[in-house]
Amino acid sequence: MDTRYSATIHGKYTFENFVVGSCNRLAHAAAVSVADAPGYAYNPLFIHGSSGLGKTHLLHAINNLILQKSHLKTIYLSCEHFVNHYISTIQSNEWEAFRNFYRNGDVFLLDDIQFFENSCGSREEFFHTFNALYNARKQIVITSDSPPESIASLEERLVSRFKWGLVCSIDAPSRETRTAIIEKKAASWNITLSHESAVYIAENISGNVRELEGAIARLSNEAKTTKNTISFDFVRKIVQEILGSRKSVRVEEVLEAISKKFNVSISQLLSKRRTRTLALPRQIAMHLSRKLTNMSLVEIGGYIGGRDHSTVIHGDETILKKAKKDKNLSFIIQKLENELLK
Ligand code: ADP
Ligand code: MG
Repeated sequence: MDTRYSATIHGKYTFENFVVGSCNRLAHAAAVSVADAPGYAYNPLFIHGSSGLGKTHLLHAINNLILQKSHLKTIYLSCEHFVNHYISTIQSNEWEAFRNFYRNGDVFLLDDIQFFENSCGSREEFFHTFNALYNARKQIVITSDSPPESIASLEERLVSRFKWGLVCSIDAPSRETRTAIIEKKAASWNITLSHESAVYIAENISGNVRELEGAIARLSNEAKTTKNTISFDFVRKIVQEILGSRKSVRVEEVLEAISKKFNVSISQLLSKRRTRTLALPRQIAMHLSRKLTNMSLVEIGGYIGGRDHSTVIHGDETILKKAKKDKNLSFIIQKLENELLK
């Protein structure tokens, strides 16, 4: 079998060490059902959520459980692998081998399908692969950083096929879930951490789970090298260091990202014009500048077209309210934020 295009499977990503909270309960339950009865529970299963929230972990957990319980053949790969495989097949012209590779599997796990965005030919090929697998009742599980309908350039026919099964999301973990994750990770690293310390980390490091893991790894390293026990003061010191070393974003970068995303010029964003097409991107600029830069409200207002600080607060709050009701807007903002923090 050609293994060049399947990615490495991590044995450590299992259901046992996945912490379940309200943010991921449905996705976790669906993943367990799929692993219990591949091809029968939900097909396809589509899991979406921002980076670092556990999508790849769940895919691997499905894979690991299936391999443990059955002789089914699983194919796990990232969408990038699929695109590369497609491109190299254009050169070699070995289409039969390409098709057999996918069609011979019983379970198809495809990670990060948003990477199809720029590759029309591979999307077409995926469409055929999908149909062949689906018609043969093979289990398909797909992950993405946004819901199917928000993946730009994904054809309607693919979007509607994804909806034949179950589409579910993983949201950012609450403080309680973050605390539980920290305690579980600390235990698996053999670090003794008081509950107070775990809560402190969860309160201060509120991003994705990958960041929480980074904090635990840092604590473990520091404790080893400085031979320090993990006291609350020590935890506080490390957390402050992590917060201090975070990449800070410049307001120019925020404006540039928004100008690209909404197809408006920076001078239009800074202008006094109040048309709707400008008001929304401008308010998002205020929201992201407040959240991601080190600038004060007065400075942000001054930079964004000489507005005063109350306009910035109003812009920021308007966006927070709108994003709560409008999932699509909330995804756009999350994506911009991820790009800026990269
Ligand atoms: P994604 O694929 O959504 O970007 P990953 O699955 O790579 O995210 O998760 C990032 C890291 O966080 C991984 O090491 C994973 O094990 C861990 N992680 C994410 N969610 C959880 C969870 N609910 N419980 C335990 N670990 C988690
Ligand atoms: Mg992933």
